[in-house]
Amino acid sequence: MPALEKSRREINEIIVHCTATRAGRQVSVAEIDSWHRQRGFSSIGYHYVVALDGTVSPGRSPHLAGAHCLGHNSKSIAVVYVGGLDSAGHAADTRTDAQKAALTALLKALRGTYPNARIRSHRDFAAKDCPCFNATAEYAAL
Ligand SMILES: [Zn+2]
Repeated sequence: MPALEKSRREINEIIVHCTATRAGRQVSVAEIDSWHRQRGFSSIGYHYVVALDGTVSPGRSPHLAGAHCLGHNSKSIAVVYVGGLDSAGHAADTRTDAQKAALTALLKALRGTYPNARIRSHRDFAAKDCPCFNATAEYAAL
């Protein structure tokens, strides 16, 4: 896991996302960065990316507001795992065991860094399936 640099912003939410890509498809930080630049963002909109093998990579600097959840960007940290769609392209919890372990470790560390921040699912704030599982409930006790 990368060292967690503490944001100079006030953080009150840690919002979990998926890349909305099919199970088993590798997606790099560079690829997400390119998608988001094509959408007009300055760079990748998430702060941390959890790959299929559980590797956690830094995305956008935590000092900068992300671009990931309308109305919630200024005071949040965005975490994304690679996946979220089954082989037919439908929303599904495709987290690998390695991703589950890495997400728990990363979110625990983020809660340590931002003790007042609540862990939430993107879908709590938008009419979307993202992150295709109930992160708010699953991580409520971290
Ligand atoms: Zn999302």
